[in-house]
Amino acid sequence: MHVQADSSLVTISGTDDSIRQRLMAERDRLRRDAGLSDVKHFQRPQERAFLAHERDQVTILFGGLTWKHESLIRAVFQGNRYRCETLPVPDVAAFQLGKEYGNNGQCNPTYFTVGNLVQFLQSLEAQGLSRQEIIDKYVFFTAGSCGPCRFGMYEAEYRYALQNAGFDGFRVLLFQQTDGIKAASGEPGLKFSVNFGLGMLNALNLGDVINDLIYQIRPFEMSAGQTDKVFAEAVDGLCHTLQYRKPFEFMEDGPVWLTERLAKKNGIKNTLSVLCKIWDHLYGKEFLGAVETCRDQINKIDVDRTKVKPVVKITGEFWAQTTEGDGNFHMFRFLEREGAQVLVEHIATWVAYMLHVARKGAEARRDIERPYRHPAWWELRKHLANEMKFRKKIVMFDIGEAMWTHFYHRICDRLGGITHHLVPQEELSRLAHPFYHQLARGGEGYMEVGKNVYYTVNHLCHMVLALKPFGCMPSAQSDGVQSAVINRFRDMIFLPIETSGEGEVNAHSRVQMALGEAKAKAKAEFESVLKSTGKRLDDIRDYVAGHPELRRPFYHVPHRPGIAGTAAQFVAHVSDLMESKHRFWHRSGSAPFVQSGATA
Ligand code: SF4
Repeated sequence: MHVQADSSLVTISGTDDSIRQRLMAERDRLRRDAGLSDVKHFQRPQERAFLAHERDQVTILFGGLTWKHESLIRAVFQGNRYRCETLPVPDVAAFQLGKEYGNNGQCNPTYFTVGNLVQFLQSLEAQGLSRQEIIDKYVFFTAGSCGPCRFGMYEAEYRYALQNAGFDGFRVLLFQQTDGIKAASGEPGLKFSVNFGLGMLNALNLGDVINDLIYQIRPFEMSAGQTDKVFAEAVDGLCHTLQYRKPFEFMEDGPVWLTERLAKKNGIKNTLSVLCKIWDHLYGKEFLGAVETCRDQINKIDVDRTKVKPVVKITGEFWAQTTEGDGNFHMFRFLEREGAQVLVEHIATWVAYMLHVARKGAEARRDIERPYRHPAWWELRKHLANEMKFRKKIVMFDIGEAMWTHFYHRICDRLGGITHHLVPQEELSRLAHPFYHQLARGGEGYMEVGKNVYYTVNHLCHMVLALKPFGCMPSAQSDGVQSAVINRFRDMIFLPIETSGEGEVNAHSRVQMALGEAKAKAKAEFESVLKSTGKRLDDIRDYVAGHPELRRPFYHVPHRPGIAGTAAQFVAHVSDLMESKHRFWHRSGSAPFVQSGATA
């Protein structure tokens, strides 16, 4: 054996095999001594692959998001020639089925989602399909992770519950948080193409922005039901485009003079083709045209922004704050019925969080991931190599974060420009860090605390409502520190609600109590702003009646720092408009004096 060492690297050559054998023998001895020689480790079950030739016969099932996201995602699947169906919104019966067939001690999104799948498969059986037909003709597509919370167990839980419910062999396809798309068996029946990936990006971004818009507009609609109707039509239009738009093909759609020259140069041709596809998906005429049509449809809704409503920011666990059913006690509809305006969270925030955490993790591992562990001070080449490796990684994360933010904001700006931009993760983690370590991963990590502080200190809401499922480990940690946060920020109204699957009445009544305080806060804020304008509410309403553009949902009301309520922001702005008009007429002398607040 020959061992060669320098100050930073150790290389071993020669009889590697003999070293390995001695190591294995020693490991065996230790295992025998510890009584572990007969232990059988868990092996991921080998599942039948979902193969490309099955695409025409097999239906992909998925669910768990809002109806807007799901409709748009389904359109992308179908546009890429997959058969696809969305699962219904999980209800309490699904939750109970999940408990019946799943393991004990899971968090409740596991029960809801697992039970929902089993419930759907049972409904297929009730319609006359045999179990074998169901197993052959359907697959389930879901997100997966390696943890650190119970999210890492979802895949195994699906399999376990399906087995217990009599659907052993039903295929589960994973969208891994870290690995992209792959069949659990490794077989790429579901192919990640440029068209598929960018279609999904657009679907997710559009779903987020439209979801945000609905909750901003519906509380102020002047004709009950108009928002739901218009948004249903608008989403249909977008789905149609995502499904039927013709994908850009360089050799067909590129300029003839170029395609002819590149006909035999496959490398350049393929690169150009990919770049053109990306451009077409993000900024192509057809896509942007559909977004514009959607914007115009939405902008026809009549809104009255003078209704005073407390703004309730929703935070909490990813699934509980996204679902719109029994999984969170229909909380958003309940809040709206109770007179609140809901600030929902975007899926894009979670993706930005994952990118940020990966970047921070790379920073924390900087020293242990250096190629040269202990270079002497004069070994500049090695120092440089260490630095370069680290910098390269960080630059890649920075580019990823910047691109993700840009893609999301592109849709916000094109769809009316009134939806909330992503809060910088650096800011959220900075605000949370005194209470919750930014590297403590799992669930929403530092974000629950960070958002609570951010929305309160910036006066962006009157109350924060954290929806967290029963049995959620990261949310339990967050709640532990929220009492310290509340002590620090005394005017914060924060309510954590555990969504246990049962106990809806109890949860609603707790929310009602906190909302009472938030309503009082919103009302006091509104009255103080109105008073500061020196006008009566009727004067403001009269002015709005004479300016129909102020009733359009996409009329841009400039944000005033320190004011959270939509109505308060609006009256302050209208008052400014009235005064500027008054000043104009008064200065120009071209019209008789118009009293502040008079109808134009
Ligand atoms: S974040 Fe909480 S509820 Fe969600 S999977 Fe993890 S433990 Fe379960």
